[in-house]
Formats: sequence, structure tokens, C-alpha cells
Amino acid sequence: MSAVSSPAGSPAPVLHLTGPILLGPEQELAEAWVLDGRIHHSRPDLSTDAETRQLDGFVVPGLADLHCHLGIGDDGKGTSIGTARQQALTDRDTGVLLIRDAGSIIDTSPLQEQSDVPRLIRCGRHLARTRRYLRGYADEVEPEDLPAAVTREAQRGDGWVKLVGDWIDRSAGDLSPCWNSEDFVAAAAAAHAAGARITTHTFDEATVPLALDAGFDCLEHATGLTDETITRAAQAGVPVVTTLVNVDEFESYASQGEPKFPAYAAHMRRLRAGRFDRTRNAHDAGVQLLVGTDAGGVLGHGIIHDELDELARAGLEATAILSAAAWAPRRFLGVPGLEDGSPADLLVTPRDPRTDHRALRERSHVVLGGRIVA
Ligand SMILES: [Zn+2]
Repeated sequence: MSAVSSPAGSPAPVLHLTGPILLGPEQELAEAWVLDGRIHHSRPDLSTDAETRQLDGFVVPGLADLHCHLGIGDDGKGTSIGTARQQALTDRDTGVLLIRDAGSIIDTSPLQEQSDVPRLIRCGRHLARTRRYLRGYADEVEPEDLPAAVTREAQRGDGWVKLVGDWIDRSAGDLSPCWNSEDFVAAAAAAHAAGARITTHTFDEATVPLALDAGFDCLEHATGLTDETITRAAQAGVPVVTTLVNVDEFESYASQGEPKFPAYAAHMRRLRAGRFDRTRNAHDAGVQLLVGTDAGGVLGHGIIHDELDELARAGLEATAILSAAAWAPRRFLGVPGLEDGSPADLLVTPRDPRTDHRALRERSHVVLGGRIVA
């Protein structure tokens, strides 16, 4: 991502960050500089006429949203690329500077050419079983076509494929896995053979072991985690993308489904009721939690701070929340943070976000590619 010169062509001022610079949970630096779009840990050689601007405050890497959807509108339909850009800018202005898009109806790759939107890693289109997902969102396939569909999406996306692993089975009247164990294995093998990682949307308890057995690289929502699968995910180093704001919405799915599908409604309410305990247990057991909002479609964009508040409600301490939102996702996605020479994608906050995550809401500056954008 290059943002060395503005659209008008004027060079961005050199930024002097007076720190502390929070490189990681235990690692900080007293000060740093931003020049030509990159962060410098020591004072660079500056020409005497270089305009320098001092930014005071705690510096953290730009936040990451590991699960949102650019290009899906409030009506559940694909948007124009211009609307997808507006969604990305809404996220950016809240401090989200890295997005893993968890499935879009439209091709959002043109946004990757734009230096003023967050860095975007795409999953391509979600893959779902026929008639087992929100209508119109996914490419719907049957098991015999799944491996080829995974290979195709691996080539279209940026190293990630997303499979909808479970959904309500209307004939059974409850959540259930959409695929059997062989299908999960074949999907993971196809993704890995194409050099991609694969993740799965999963609500149901029965799906998590299938995904873990098959070697999936990540779990989305994962409301069906149990003590046993929490231990397994921790041992396998498979992270969980939280989406707690969305899980709070399970009550509305339950009440909508209740007249026809009472068992489903009860199941969804149970999963919702356990969301905080389960999240905290997973964290305590060593599962890496990663922040995802699930914005786009049902939920509007710009809600990352609400998701962080939910993690606090679950009992996570501020440093763990900051890890899940900033340091860990960058490591997981192979995107640099505040290391010397990295693209300067960062936030400045007046208070220490390691003691109170709400300091991130109070950010004074959002810097993307070395430019102050918000
Ligand atoms: Zn989603």
C-alpha cells in the first residue's frame, strides 16, 4: 500500500510520535517517526525544510477486523464498489486499518488499489450448501462440487477461503452441519493444495470437531465451542474470530424461527446465553481470540468498539482485548505491526489502552500509510 503522496500531490508531513509506542503486550518504545509512509524507530535524516508534526499519545497498530463484509448492503444484496468503499472508510475512521473480508457478493479487489482505505485481505465469495445459508450471499454447491469450488475461490481470494459449515436444517428443525467429515477434509485439502487457508462459519457444537479434524485454520463465531473443543482448538493453535455483537442478535433469529422451529429457537438462545462464559473460557484455555464484527449485511459498519466492549463484558482484560484487536491478527495474517520500516498504519490514543480498552474509542489520530486520515 503506498500513500506517499496525497491525491493533491503534496508530501505528507514527517510525524514525530512521542509515544510510548506499543510494539506488543510487553514491548514498548519511547518514540518513533513516520516518513514516506513508514515507521522509523530512530530519527531519520531530515532535510531542514521538512515539515514535522508532533503527535503525543500512546501508539498502537491499526485495529483489525477479521470478519466483516464489504460490498453487502443492508438489504442483503451486493452493493456498488462505491458503497463498498464507503463501508471501508466508515471502518477506517473508527481505527480499523486491516480487514479480512469474510465473503462478499461483489468483487472488492478494486479497493486494494486505493491507498486511503484499510488494507484488505479477501476470502472471495463464501461457499455454502444449497439452500443452507442466507439467500444470495454465497455460492451454493453440493458436496461433489465442493473441492473444485474451494480451489476456484482460493485462486480468486487473497489466501483465504470461507465455508459455511452449518446452518438451520429446516427438515430437522435445528442447526446442523451442512457437510460430513469427508467434505470438510476435502475442502481443507483443496484449500491447502492451492496455497490458501480455510475458515468456517460455525454456530453448532457438532461442526467444530469436524473442522478441527479436517485441519481448518480458523473458526468464525464458534458459538458451539465446548470444553473439549476449546482444549482441542488451543492445542492445535486454531484461533476463534469472536463476532459477539452478532451473537447477541441470536435472540432475533430465535424469535423469528420460533413458530416453525422451536428446537432451533431454543438452541440459538442457549448459544447466546453462553457467549460470555464460552469466550472467556476459550481465552483462559489459550485459544487465540481475534476480533471480528460481522459488519455488512445485517449489521452496519463502524462497530469495532462495540465488539471490544463485548469482549470486556466477557471478562477479558484490556491487554487481551488489545491483543485480539491489534497485535495477534497482524501476526496471524502476516501483516506487520509497528516494527521498524513497516507501513505506518497506527492509532494514537490519549490514554493507555493496555489498562482500559475504551481508550481506543478516544483515539486522537488515525494514520494510514503515513497520512493522518482521521
Ligand atoms: Zn459473516
